[in-house]
Amino acid sequence: MTDSGEGSTTKRMVPLREGIFRLPETPDGKPVLLGSRCPKCSAYYFPKRRICIACGQNGLDEAELSTRGKVWTYTIAGQTPPGSLVEAPYALAVVELPEKVAIRAVLTDVDPAEVKVGMEVEIKLVKMKENEDGNDVVSYMFRPV
Ligand SMILES: [Zn+2]
Repeated sequence: MTDSGEGSTTKRMVPLREGIFRLPETPDGKPVLLGSRCPKCSAYYFPKRRICIACGQNGLDEAELSTRGKVWTYTIAGQTPPGSLVEAPYALAVVELPEKVAIRAVLTDVDPAEVKVGMEVEIKLVKMKENEDGNDVVSYMFRPV
């Protein structure tokens, strides 16, 4: 029998939702969030959209967003919502990227009580669960730099 070329023992990462971010090329690399940029007024959006709210331009370009940002505001979730893959307590933040895009994301690797407005954070992929093929289903969160 010949090898099919597909390593059956190799675990793969699968995004929780498609089209939101690009997986890193190396295991310790960072994912890149995919948003939109208006070719007319340079406004950025996340998630992607088709029409620019700022100038009405129809047809926006796909854009890679910064992997670092700042906590703009946050709230602490004291209860785990039904069906949630994240366990309370955790901080749910709005992270502002240098492109002036606000991203809602869970903060990880931090005690929720230590979170501060203005804190520098960077994106991180976190395993949410395993799928039926044994691959890691991942989503993005942010952690302190
Ligand atoms: Zn625009």
